[in-house]
Parts: sequence; structure tokens; C-alpha cells
Amino acid sequence: MKTVNHCPRCHHELDEGPIMYRCANCRRAVYAADLDHEYVAPREPVAA
Ligand SMILES: [Zn+2]
Repeated sequence: MKTVNHCPRCHHELDEGPIMYRCANCRRAVYAADLDHEYVAPREPVAA
């Protein structure tokens, strides 16, 4: 499944990924962790 993320700065479509994306418009590297949706960074499970 392919998802299209957008630059949080200019909303241009991001290339590459899935860990780090690159915005062709503002030439900014955007980490998936910086995106507030779709990708959830792996975290240590919290034992209840
Ligand atoms: Zn951009």
C-alpha cells in the first residue's frame, strides 16, 4: 500500500521514504516522525 505524505511546510508531495521524505518543492528533508499522521514511530511498549 502506498501512501502519499505531504510537506508540513508547503504541502507539496513528498518523495522517498518511508523513514525520511524529501520535499521537491522546498528541498527540505522531512522525517516520518515529524509527520503527525500515518506513520507511528516504533516505541517501547509500556508494561501496564
Ligand atoms: Zn516543502
